[in-house]
Amino acid sequence: MGWTERQRRMLAEMGLTVWAPETVPLAQAERLDAPPVPEAAFPASAPSASAPAASAPVVPRMPSAVAQLDWPALREAVAACRACRLCEGRRNTVFGVGNERAHLMVVGEAPGEQEDRKGEPFVGPAGMLLDAMLRALGLTREAAPPERQVFIANTLKCRPPGNRNPEPDEMVKCEPFLQRQLALVQPRVILAMGRFAVQALLRSSEPIGRLRGRVHTYEGVPLVVTYHPAYLLRNLPDKAKAWDDLCLAATLLEKQGA
Ligand code: URA
Repeated sequence: MGWTERQRRMLAEMGLTVWAPETVPLAQAERLDAPPVPEAAFPASAPSASAPAASAPVVPRMPSAVAQLDWPALREAVAACRACRLCEGRRNTVFGVGNERAHLMVVGEAPGEQEDRKGEPFVGPAGMLLDAMLRALGLTREAAPPERQVFIANTLKCRPPGNRNPEPDEMVKCEPFLQRQLALVQPRVILAMGRFAVQALLRSSEPIGRLRGRVHTYEGVPLVVTYHPAYLLRNLPDKAKAWDDLCLAATLLEKQGA
């Protein structure tokens, strides 16, 4: 992945080092030479074997008919969902955006006010930071081939009132949608941003600081944990760590020929 002068300048402005494969802890990725995982590798109900067993609730993966839906049916099901109280206050559901066969899938928490208005994830300040970091790796949410265009989704598809944290029952109700998105996209690498994405995908409530910096797996797919961009906006010193995490994800993609 090459760097333009503009990208280098932008990174410098963000206080971030330039990504290059040799700067990343390659040893962490050694065991990840496997080819992309076929859809059959996403069973309907097996918790992730590699996930640290912390205290997050254990819920079967994709327990419902959602597991059978194709993209159009899944979009319709999300748009029509009234499974939890969040449907009452939403303007729009926020399905997700990007390439339906993206090599990198990015998972956040829940829509905020601007996302709820627009029906698209990460369009506020946190989204601008996310876009900038992705751009610095040669990645985008805009139309591009699957190795360059990511897919971005949230753990919840509706905005919690006042941007409060997701409630456990809301996470459980919404989870089949994210699981089905993952099964359809079949990403080569997953980037889980923030504790709610981590809870949903790794069944772990360990702090991000303890989970980041190494490779986890979700249903056999390499998963990198990082801080949520909204957190980074309030904690600038951790931006460098998040950048390292994105570089780790980029290295994993590169090792898989993505
Ligand atoms: N934060 C998220 O986790 N998702 C969004 O879509 C916006 C902010």
